[in-house]
Amino acid sequence: MRIIITGGSGFIGSNLILFLHNKYPEYQFMNLDKLSYASDQRYLSDLKSSSRYYFKKLDLVNREAIQDAVQTFKPDGVIHLAAESHVDNSIKGPEAFVQSNVVGTFNILDECRRFWSEQAEGLGAFRFHHVSTDEVYGSLGAEGYFTESTPYAPNSPYSATKAASDMLVRAYFHTYGMNVVTTNCSNNYGRFQHDEKLIPTVIRNAYQKKPIPIYGNGQNIRDWLYVDDHCAAIDKVFHESAPGETYNVGGHNEWKNLDLVKKICHIMNELVGDGPDKDYANLMTFVTDRPGHDQRYAIDPSKIESELGWKHQGSFDQHLTTTIQWYIEKYSSLEV
Ligand code: NAD
Repeated sequence: MRIIITGGSGFIGSNLILFLHNKYPEYQFMNLDKLSYASDQRYLSDLKSSSRYYFKKLDLVNREAIQDAVQTFKPDGVIHLAAESHVDNSIKGPEAFVQSNVVGTFNILDECRRFWSEQAEGLGAFRFHHVSTDEVYGSLGAEGYFTESTPYAPNSPYSATKAASDMLVRAYFHTYGMNVVTTNCSNNYGRFQHDEKLIPTVIRNAYQKKPIPIYGNGQNIRDWLYVDDHCAAIDKVFHESAPGETYNVGGHNEWKNLDLVKKICHIMNELVGDGPDKDYANLMTFVTDRPGHDQRYAIDPSKIESELGWKHQGSFDQHLTTTIQWYIEKYSSLEV
């Protein structure tokens, strides 16, 4: 197979390319990424010598560049991850989110429709996998879970633009019969995530003995999934799902932000043990809440579990410790 992966130089994209490149030795991959501040090409440096990996620097807003890449590479499938992804940035400057997440998704989707329509196998033979978020569903109260039939109610410019892109993808299935699938995943953690996100921020600030910021009262709840589990879910859905399906991806792993930060501090006390008064939790500092901060996200993953046999693997403690070790190594190497 020949697969285009968009956003392959970001957090999940880098992990996904390594995962798929390793699992499918006969596949070819093309990574289309504009290389934003959130990208880091070093994470894919092991693939420099691979004859099955190609990189093209490209902004999805540039439709002609997409057309050229699609016509040249001739993909059998696309896994679309490229997006502006940080909620705080979307509050400060929503336009970039509309451009990348809505216009960018339209451009790659429509170029694929055009290219695949002209192939002998027909449009329906080629898969377009759209990677989205649980944030499109809005905020939950204390009870309940997001299922695939939960109505969309996005609350931030980020989630609104992701919701818009989900709707475009859905429409291309119903209108043109395009072979699309969408996954809506909960918060990911693991190696390669940009420093601006919660878990890397906590580890970095603790390691550097700086205040660890906690929004509001720290009671907001997120459902955390290890990035490798997300990659395995994308792999399953991309290869096995029926056309037009959507799957929620999560590992039933809800944490209040405050408890998560305490847990990271606790693990760092064990691993590094250099916090003020022997406890990194002493660095926790409450800061003004994010505007429109969603209270709770929680995924019901029973559809992907029962239909495709996917399930998250390993324990949170084990994956979080591995993750913290990876960032400690990264931040300690910056000191040299
Ligand atoms: P990220 O910000 O780490 O990486 C995004 C990548 O997309 C970057 O390399 C960036 O350069 C690229 N990109 C952005 N706009 C582009 C454009 N216009 N043209 C080409 N490339 C562009 O994001 P991530 O955390 O890896 O998220 C990847 C996808 O997964 C996103 O679609 C996001 O909505 C979704 N998602 C993320 C999470 C999470 O917890 N991180 C959870 C669920 C879903």
